[in-house]
Amino acid sequence: MTITAPHPTTAPLVADRLCKSFAQGVEHPVQALDDVSVHIRPGQSVSVMGPSGSGKSTLLHLLAGIIRPDSGQVRLGADPVSVASDAVRSRLRRTWFGFVFQDGQLLAELTAAENVALPLMLNGCRRPAAVAHATAWLHRLGLAGLETRRPGQMSGGQAQRVAVARALVHSPAVVMADEPTGALDTATGAQVMQLLTEATAQAGASLLVVTHDQGVAAWCQRHLVILDGRLESDSGGAR
Ligand code: ADP
Ligand code: MG
Repeated sequence: MTITAPHPTTAPLVADRLCKSFAQGVEHPVQALDDVSVHIRPGQSVSVMGPSGSGKSTLLHLLAGIIRPDSGQVRLGADPVSVASDAVRSRLRRTWFGFVFQDGQLLAELTAAENVALPLMLNGCRRPAAVAHATAWLHRLGLAGLETRRPGQMSGGQAQRVAVARALVHSPAVVMADEPTGALDTATGAQVMQLLTEATAQAGASLLVVTHDQGVAAWCQRHLVILDGRLESDSGGAR
């Protein structure tokens, strides 16, 4: 299967009746997600809230093709994310999705610029061009001067801003952030959310943010609540 061209920043991300359970001992499979459908418009920012264990990360992982549903489907435009082979799914992920995790997950032995350059190099960009492009992104996100620092030489907020640059550097269609401010204080978290929402909007990408924090969710245009694996509420399903 080939990936549809051109780049699908105008394509919605659509989940149709997703179900996913995990085996936790043979007798007790956990239904992590139960019949969840959602249609995310291009450029839309969406928060995903709900108690711990309710299925938020599972939804994100299904939408990004990291895992496959037991039933139901995920599509980005015309391209089936959920039914593709492992190899195609990982290519879709590298090409169309950017990720920000709770603790940045930057590679400790690489500099900030090298960390940001990685998604480009994984997509076949040569190192000098990738590092130059990454450096431009660091400057754009207010991180000039930090290019050669390693993650251990940065504050938590700086590291998360580098993670934002890394999530956007390859012009993804969708940015997924799982508890992106979970390790930050409120003020630093707000700065990171402002940067994340503005930079994602400027790039024309849609944004999904899993969070426990109402203040973090408030940066998004639309709000989903997941409870016991079901979509409990959706502030903007029709938008
Ligand atoms: P949340 O992100 O809302 O905290 P998760 O989506 O991580 O919730 O998990 C939902 C449910 O699925 C939980 O009961 C969790 O224990 C279970 N679960 C998630 N991933 C796995 C896995 N890889 N193996 C077994 N159980 C899992
Ligand atoms: Mg989670």
